[in-house]
Amino acid sequence: MPKKKNKEVLIPQPQSRFLRVKCLNCGNQQIIFGCSATDVECLVCGKTLLQSTGGKARILTKILEVLS
Ligand SMILES: [Zn+2]
Repeated sequence: MPKKKNKEVLIPQPQSRFLRVKCLNCGNQQIIFGCSATDVECLVCGKTLLQSTGGKARILTKILEVLS
C-alpha cells in the first residue's frame, strides 16, 4: 500500500452535511443531519426520512437543499 502523501483522496460523501428535506408523505420540511447514525423520522407523520445502514445513511425522501 503506497503511503498517503499530500494527495487528498476524494471520498464521495454527499450525505455528510445538514440537509433540508421534504417529507414525501405529508410535505413537512425539516433539517436532518445527513450522516446520522440513527434513523431520522418525520416529526409530523413519523415516516422514515433517513435510514442508517451501518455507517452509510440513506436518504429516503426528497432533498431540497444541502446546507454547508
Ligand atoms: Zn411526514
